[in-house]
Amino acid sequence: MTNYRADTAIVGGGIVGLAHALAAAKRGDRVVLFERDDFSVGASIRNFGMIWSIGQQRGEVYERALRSREVWLEIAAKTGLWAVPSGSLHLAHETDEMAVLEEFVATTPAAREHGTGMITAKDALKRSDAARADGLLGAMWSPTEVNVDPRRAIPAVAVYLAAEHGVDVRFGATVRGIDMPTVSTTAGDWRVDNVYVCSGNDFETLYPDVFADSGMVRCKLQMMRTGVQPAGWQLGPMLCGGLTLLHYAAFDDCTSRAALAERLSEQYTFHRENGIHVLLSQTSDGRLTIGDSHAYGKTHDPFESQQINQAVLDYLATFAKLPDPQITEYWSGYYPSLRDGRTELLLTPEDGVTIVNGLGGAGMTLSFGLAQQVVGS
Ligand SMILES: Cc1cc2nc3c(=O)[nH]c(=O)nc-3n(C[C@H](O)[C@H](O)[C@H](O)COP(=O)(O)OP(=O)(O)OC[C@H]3O[C@@H](n4cnc5c(N)ncnc54)[C@H](O)[C@@H]3O)c2cc1C
Repeated sequence: MTNYRADTAIVGGGIVGLAHALAAAKRGDRVVLFERDDFSVGASIRNFGMIWSIGQQRGEVYERALRSREVWLEIAAKTGLWAVPSGSLHLAHETDEMAVLEEFVATTPAAREHGTGMITAKDALKRSDAARADGLLGAMWSPTEVNVDPRRAIPAVAVYLAAEHGVDVRFGATVRGIDMPTVSTTAGDWRVDNVYVCSGNDFETLYPDVFADSGMVRCKLQMMRTGVQPAGWQLGPMLCGGLTLLHYAAFDDCTSRAALAERLSEQYTFHRENGIHVLLSQTSDGRLTIGDSHAYGKTHDPFESQQINQAVLDYLATFAKLPDPQITEYWSGYYPSLRDGRTELLLTPEDGVTIVNGLGGAGMTLSFGLAQQVVGS
């Protein structure tokens, strides 16, 4: 029996669900959001908190990331949520890394228009206390990246949606099934006009046949965090090194990347085999988040490899030095991944229902902008 009424229902309280709830509420809908867990524990709180525009595919996806960035900063201005427009530094300690970065800057006017450019080693060291000075040749500075603290940001966005946009946010409520216009949940049956299914890593339960044909697999990532750094030490720009240039789509068209890939595959065979590239961000209370590795498959073993964690730390030491490097937390994160270059999966399994998934390693960066496009607000 249908007990309740809303215009739009959202399945999932991760960043994708929250972003679609915001977009639908801004359109004027009465929105209800169902999150199975008592608080979000998925990919959206397990990540670096990097709103990482600079790494996204050039063109439309980069622009989408910049729109998301604006939404993050708008929510931060309204709520006091910690979102630092720290920018980022791609550090180059080798000439082949310099070559890729220089080619990227030369061939990407959109990034240059937003202030991205090459800087000298001396200037990079002025911007970052954490950059390793020894052997530093130069860096690519990008001002567009924003550092949020996912464990705090995701709950804060949920509170903001309820308080500012009247979204009915229901934690501890599982969606059992959808048969339009009815959404059947553990919090009753709801009659709705639209549903956005943003169920993240649980992509099989609601529409198993649809997902079986989607080409999505799961990516497992190992992550670490230090304790609070001493004396209020601040990271400033988020950092990465050469392996990251092989990871992000932004650099796909750089012809100089082939030589870098060849050298890194030879020098860092274990890292390449385990999908390791290394990023460094900070949390609002001054801890440093470090990762990560990438393993792809439908089902993963639940165990963490100390060899992988050590390889991440070894590579971090090639481009950064931390005041207090002691690790206090280890975890794995999982996200659904499209392995063919698509940046999202959008499907309509029945009238009024839209599945939004497959944002891979860029959900924090792209969700708000994507939701505006999908919902049309
Ligand atoms: C280790 C790691 C590092 C990353 N770093 C970054 C980064 O720095 N920057 C960036 O842009 N991206 C990053 N990402 C990617 C980003 O975190 C993901 O793309 C994003 O969080 C996916 O959001 P989501 O809402 O789809 O999934 P989730 O956060 O997993 O949320 C899905 C939610 O749906 C709920 N759900 C599922 N089924 C139901 C149901 N039937 N009823 C009710 N609720 C249901 C689940 O409980 C879950 O809470 C990273 C990811 C990982 C794992």
